Amino acid sequence: MDVDIERLRSIVGDENVSDRAFDLYVYSSDASVHQAKPDVVVRPGTTEEVQDIVRYANEKKIPIVPRGAGSGMSGHTVPIDGGIVLDMKRMDRIMDIKPEDVLVRVEAGVVNDDLNKALKPFGVFFPPTPSSGNICTIGGMIGTNASGNRAVKYGATRDSIMGMKVVMANGEALDLGSNTIVESAGYQLHRLIVGSEGTLGIVTEATLRLAPLPKFRMIGVVNFDRLEDAGNAISAIAASGVKPSMLELMDHVAIKAVNTALDMGLPDVEAIVMFECNGMAKDEVDRDMERVQEIFKEHNGSGIEVSDDPKEMARIYAGRKKLFPSLSRYKEGLVSTSLADDMAVPISQIAATIQKIHEIAENNGIIMSAYGHAGSGLIHTKILIDPSQQSQWDASAKAVDEVYKFIREVGGTTSGEHGIALSKAPAWKEEKADQLETMRAIKKALDPNNILNPHKLQDAPDDWVTATDLRYKVRG
Ligand SMILES: Cc1cc2nc3c(=O)[nH]c(=O)nc-3n(C[C@H](O)[C@H](O)[C@H](O)COP(=O)(O)OP(=O)(O)OC[C@H]3O[C@@H](n4cnc5c(N)ncnc54)[C@H](O)[C@@H]3O)c2cc1C
Repeated sequence: MDVDIERLRSIVGDENVSDRAFDLYVYSSDASVHQAKPDVVVRPGTTEEVQDIVRYANEKKIPIVPRGAGSGMSGHTVPIDGGIVLDMKRMDRIMDIKPEDVLVRVEAGVVNDDLNKALKPFGVFFPPTPSSGNICTIGGMIGTNASGNRAVKYGATRDSIMGMKVVMANGEALDLGSNTIVESAGYQLHRLIVGSEGTLGIVTEATLRLAPLPKFRMIGVVNFDRLEDAGNAISAIAASGVKPSMLELMDHVAIKAVNTALDMGLPDVEAIVMFECNGMAKDEVDRDMERVQEIFKEHNGSGIEVSDDPKEMARIYAGRKKLFPSLSRYKEGLVSTSLADDMAVPISQIAATIQKIHEIAENNGIIMSAYGHAGSGLIHTKILIDPSQQSQWDASAKAVDEVYKFIREVGGTTSGEHGIALSKAPAWKEEKADQLETMRAIKKALDPNNILNPHKLQDAPDDWVTATDLRYKVRG
């Protein structure tokens, strides 16, 4: 693609533009299986620079892919048509902390955990808690409507966004939303940008709603010999009125992965559930923890341990925290791929869905673990395969189709928190078939030249396996 590198250098400075082979390789992939090289990587430092870059890209019809940390799991920032990758991490200023309004204004490249460190002395925090919080940026969290293990109590990123500055495809910068908790009329355009995966505009600043830092918290763990009992217990908690701040489930594959990789000695049971309650008063937290434990016992939960000691709490949660890297060490030669990896289902369907996932994996000769933020109905899976074998990719593609078919049958959704991009687009397009034309009309109205992260979401290819090169060498 013909990109005028000198013009880009004149906007952001020489040191913030690169077309070196090494950089293009690094920016050709994210945490997904996909790979495609950009023509150039540009690192803007201000909204005005973003505007100038976008005006140039729009004039020349050059694709432009906004990128935070590149931790998206479905090919979000993989530039399928080349063009410009816009690395937003230089825009990392925390501009205005307003504890009296319980909000903060930040630039889009601020990293989630850095923000929470800065907010701590003010007694407030930004509630979405993705496991990737030490790297992911606010812009990326907005792009994917990220959430995490505390969504069960605090909701997802969308629930904590009050407003934002967005550079539209024509280069205009709009201030969307407001600084108020309520806002009555008109299209909520800032909400449209949340979850739009960089396809409608480039967020340069955001106003975030904060929550008071809880003064007390307790963590617990409970074992289940039958997965179904764990699922029913989680449903019963959801219906009980108690709001745990975390309710995480790990199935036996996940338990085995952590035991194999880290020798953690977790019990050999069908499911483990980790739970947390937090609040401003100790008696309130004690009461919630007691009620949650009662419900677990009513559903045959055993071996319950609880603690409010920071070291003990870290030990209890360690298995879940270290699960993701452990999965790649489940068996020599297998890698963990994020394909059908973050479905959400109605809470009553958690156990049935995990059982179905195991059945599908067995029928297709692959290994799939299931775990996740069960309190919000979110089920993570990772497909463990030998990526050098074409047959394993074929089996995975079949398994993915079958999983998503089941998810639709039980009234679930393709992605609960990681987003769609390329890998999950075929299933998502089936799920949202009746809305695709409306989404395409919105995209066309806001980005008529289709420069902003093109061929993602509703416009992604129908076959994820061939959508781009794969990051792995497939021998046959
Ligand atoms: C180990 C691991 C654990 C994870 N755990 C979780 C989890 O618990 N919960 C969860 O929700 N996700 C999780 N994720 C997925 C991922 O980290 C999140 O989606 C995260 O929010 C992405 O942030 P990022 O800065 O890396 O964004 P990127 O991956 O760089 O971008 C994500 C999307 O947002 C768009 N985007 C980025 N910046 C902007 C901007 N300024 N304006 C407009 N669009 C923009 C991009 O174009 C892209 O479509 C995990 C990923 C990994 C690798």
